[in-house]
Amino acid sequence: MTNDSIHMTTVEEAGFIIASNAKDYGTEELPFEEALGRVLAEPITADRDLPPYNRVTMDGIAIRIQDFLNGARRFFIQATQAAGDPPVDIYVQNNCVEIMTGASLAATINAVVPYEQIDITDGIACIKEGVDVLQNQNTHPQGKDKKQHEMMVAAGTTIDATTINIAAAVGKTMLLVKKLPRVVIISTGDELVAVNETPLPYQVRRSNNYGMQAVLAQHSIRPFLLHLPDEPAVLRQQLQACLEAYDVILLSGGVSMGKFDYVPRVLEELQVVKFFHKVRQRPGKPFWFGTHIAGALVFAFPGNPVASFMCLHRYFIPWLAASQGIAPKNTVAVLGEAVAFAPALQYFLQVNMQVSPDGTLVAMPAAGNGSGDFANLTAANAFLELPANRDSFEKGGVFRAWPFKNILW
Ligand code: AMP
Ligand code: MG
Repeated sequence: MTNDSIHMTTVEEAGFIIASNAKDYGTEELPFEEALGRVLAEPITADRDLPPYNRVTMDGIAIRIQDFLNGARRFFIQATQAAGDPPVDIYVQNNCVEIMTGASLAATINAVVPYEQIDITDGIACIKEGVDVLQNQNTHPQGKDKKQHEMMVAAGTTIDATTINIAAAVGKTMLLVKKLPRVVIISTGDELVAVNETPLPYQVRRSNNYGMQAVLAQHSIRPFLLHLPDEPAVLRQQLQACLEAYDVILLSGGVSMGKFDYVPRVLEELQVVKFFHKVRQRPGKPFWFGTHIAGALVFAFPGNPVASFMCLHRYFIPWLAASQGIAPKNTVAVLGEAVAFAPALQYFLQVNMQVSPDGTLVAMPAAGNGSGDFANLTAANAFLELPANRDSFEKGGVFRAWPFKNILW
């Protein structure tokens, strides 16, 4: 092990330092339809019993069970009640109400016989031979699912389609949610041109920042995008402005050992206190992390597209979850093929994870050509985190995984 790697921050330390800088950004109210993916900051409770009335679950006739038990099989249709009509009571023996799914059953009525089990002629419903009728059949009793004021969705839940459905059902048009940090993504590098430009033979289009923007969009964050040249004076001035305007700065590029990698120096000049520079990992070794005295956090990732993408998932997304009060996810997968990796670095292997027929999550290596090969990311769906203190990793070993695509549907 080289001297460098002995003193280098480990992945675990880096993760711990970042997690301990999680921040609560408070709460805000949002129309429920715009709250998908956000974290609920209040419980959603039932505004009334659920169902709110004894709900009919089949189209047919509603009867009083006592009449059936007394031997009645022919019922006079006293009225027809559609869903949304006020409940119709029965006070006369052997009367019934022709009734529809979703209607509210009157207090005097306690069984529904579906159309399939009756014949109707001349206003008389006749229950078919051999059909048995049980008390409360084909009804969904008031309050069976939830009682009024009972909690339906807990605070801290990530709002999904089921939560939106419930919010609508209980009339909760505004939801209190956790506020998200304001984020700026800054790309750096004089070789990078805008997407709509034709690069000269020695230039490339900037792309990292758009990939990162897309990842943040999956977490409901709309970052501001900025590109800066490798010029200390411009970096200084623009970074100063960003430190004042944003909660989080995600930088890509300019943190390595190159002659024009000014980012760490400029950040320290601007009183961003460094927690670490360089992490014992591949890709992403030059990763720099610090916090500004006024509160902003700076994640300065290497510009290498796979490195910045990996670091975003391994460090920023867990930080975001912690800041939103969400418990950390710990996904593990089974390595599907033996892998050798000699450097004393934590290796984030690109893998393709699939649920195998026996139900285990199996990760097949899909390494591509290393950390510059971002084209290969489309062939993979996760990084498998292989510990730095080992050179070989057996097939069947279980390791931590960082998915970057949804693999369950
Ligand atoms: P750096 O970390 O600045 O040394 O950059 C490492 C490599 O990543 C270089 O090949 C850069 O051209 C490339 N790179 C840096 N930033 C970006 C970006 N925003 N989009 C695409 N490639 C980038
Ligand atoms: Mg650069």
